[in-house]
Amino acid sequence: MADTLLCRRNLAFELYEMHNAEALCERPRFAEHNRETFDAALGTAHSIARDLFAPHNRKGDEHEPQYVNGAAELIPEVAPALAAFIEAGFLNATRDFEVGGMQLPNLLSQACFAHFQSANIASSSYAMLTMGASNLIEAFGSAEQQQRFLTPMIEGRFFGTMALTEPHAGSSLSDIRTKAEPAADGSYRIKGNKIFISGGDQPISENIVHMVLAKLPDAPAGVKGISLFIVPKFLVNDDGSLGARNDVALAGLFHKMGWRGTTSTALNFGDNDNCVGYLVGKPHHGLAYMFQMMNEARIGVGMGATMLGYAGYLYSLDYARNRPQGRHPDGKDPSSAQVSIVEHADVRRMLLTQKAYVEGALDLGLLGARLFDDSMTLPTEDERKQALELLDLLTPIIKSWPSEFCLKANELAIQILGGHGYTREYPVEQYYRDNRLNPIHEGTHGIQSLDLLGRKVSMNGGAALKALLKQIHGTCAQAAEMPELNSLRTPLEQLVNRLQTVTLALLGDLMAGKVNQGLANSALYLKAFGHAVVGWRWLAQAVVAQQALRQAQGDDVAFYQGKLQAARYFLTWEVPSCQHELALLEARDDTCLAMQDAWF
Ligand SMILES: Cc1cc2nc3c(=O)[nH]c(=O)nc-3n(C[C@H](O)[C@H](O)[C@H](O)COP(=O)(O)OP(=O)(O)OC[C@H]3O[C@@H](n4cnc5c(N)ncnc54)[C@H](O)[C@@H]3O)c2cc1C
Repeated sequence: MADTLLCRRNLAFELYEMHNAEALCERPRFAEHNRETFDAALGTAHSIARDLFAPHNRKGDEHEPQYVNGAAELIPEVAPALAAFIEAGFLNATRDFEVGGMQLPNLLSQACFAHFQSANIASSSYAMLTMGASNLIEAFGSAEQQQRFLTPMIEGRFFGTMALTEPHAGSSLSDIRTKAEPAADGSYRIKGNKIFISGGDQPISENIVHMVLAKLPDAPAGVKGISLFIVPKFLVNDDGSLGARNDVALAGLFHKMGWRGTTSTALNFGDNDNCVGYLVGKPHHGLAYMFQMMNEARIGVGMGATMLGYAGYLYSLDYARNRPQGRHPDGKDPSSAQVSIVEHADVRRMLLTQKAYVEGALDLGLLGARLFDDSMTLPTEDERKQALELLDLLTPIIKSWPSEFCLKANELAIQILGGHGYTREYPVEQYYRDNRLNPIHEGTHGIQSLDLLGRKVSMNGGAALKALLKQIHGTCAQAAEMPELNSLRTPLEQLVNRLQTVTLALLGDLMAGKVNQGLANSALYLKAFGHAVVGWRWLAQAVVAQQALRQAQGDDVAFYQGKLQAARYFLTWEVPSCQHELALLEARDDTCLAMQDAWF
């Protein structure tokens, strides 16, 4: 089968030419691996995604989960697909060999998972949530909690969720109302309502482990009063067998525009005052712990957005090559053969835009995965800390940029299919609907922009920002050695230099207490910052492609030329457009801030 969901040549370029996956095998943790074992894992992921996930992507959309007698029902194809995923080891791809994992680098694990995300984002979500929840228990749970809950999660018998959102508290988690009362046996009784909980009920796993945010009776106000609890659907006996049903009720399912195969649940905890929960770690530290899962999820969301964009791009490319329509502007003879629409400059514009967005986003997401590996396995503590800080700075970009621009890619894919793109006979409209969730969940776009400007850029005296700028300047210096890349490098340097000045000015506002003014246009800042980062990633790709082109043969010649053309598009069409956002930020433009409610 042709690569219609994810271009494997490009994935290999990313892994081996951009992010140097093989160099990771020199680190003790990955010493058992080599390119062959990496490629074997990728090949298995590709086959399972193609054979078991892609075929029911449409069916899952058309037959959304049903609420029947207090439980969620799903189409039958989801369970065997996930069973094959688990059986092949992907649930524990990064875990130690000794617990049955593959001990793969995160870079490879994300690349394998990308196959599942592009084939069926909804079914793969159950796995993503379980991986996040199990990592959370592994990092912060007690030995007893790990034995009782983590072990069956690793075995794929229990799935996990993250239960944060409440009807009145979505972005503002400090306002959650779910309560946790200590019980005589050392556990807690949980009471409250959560909404939009993905995978909150499903008939696939034996048990569901909800990671729930709640407040203890003595909790201080705000985010510093939030604690984290394990709340299982079924209690688990000391011998590991399933006990009584816990007092967690499925109140209903949400009906969504996309991502329909994943259950979106309203859950009631403690309707009968008997919902058992177990405190994870220390009281009142719950949000800090949960951030581990949320940060992981944010990278996963960015990658998911990328893969939906990618699938739409490849579909519309194939369509454009096969759809005859019209003639070139200079060849209007009606008796001449029609050309394929890929021949039209405007269709090429839409394809090139998609290529620049999805391949730029993929490089960014995999950079995040590589930084995660570096933060765990670089030799010195100092190096590991630097990698983690850079990842922390980039997380809002890795989450939001693909969510915004790969969604735009999906819109362009629909446009390329014309009227057919607007019908449900073709998959591109589903990709768009599925992708539309990504700027909303895991911290909305607005919240990510506040996180970036209000917190991340000034973190640790701006150390991560300085490290990022150093890396960008390093790539520019490499590009400066290649005269062919001058016209690509210059717009990036101009954007980055001005972004630096604007950042200092805005941070000055924040330090001077002008917080509302300083953060008012944070969404513009997020876009300019994101374009600077993705522009950097495109220049880095161009440097590698330019070098490789000198010796390339066969199909590789066109591959590297395509890279250079997409880099040219992004750096000369998109990057300069951010000067406008920077001008508004520089001027502290208050058009939106000064608007009054009554004037709408
Ligand atoms: C399909 C789906 C799956 C989900 N899965 C989960 C899950 O598994 N677990 C879970 O806990 N939650 C989940 N969520 C919830 C999701 O994380 C929230 O919807 C999201 O955080 C936004 O919260 P809200 O819907 O209450 O919107 P609100 O917080 O009310 O926000 C509405 C709008 O106001 C803006 N806004 C809010 N506050 C600010 C501010 N301070 N400054 C600027 N703008 C602001 C937002 O950006 C947004 O545009 C899911 C949601 C959906 C739709």
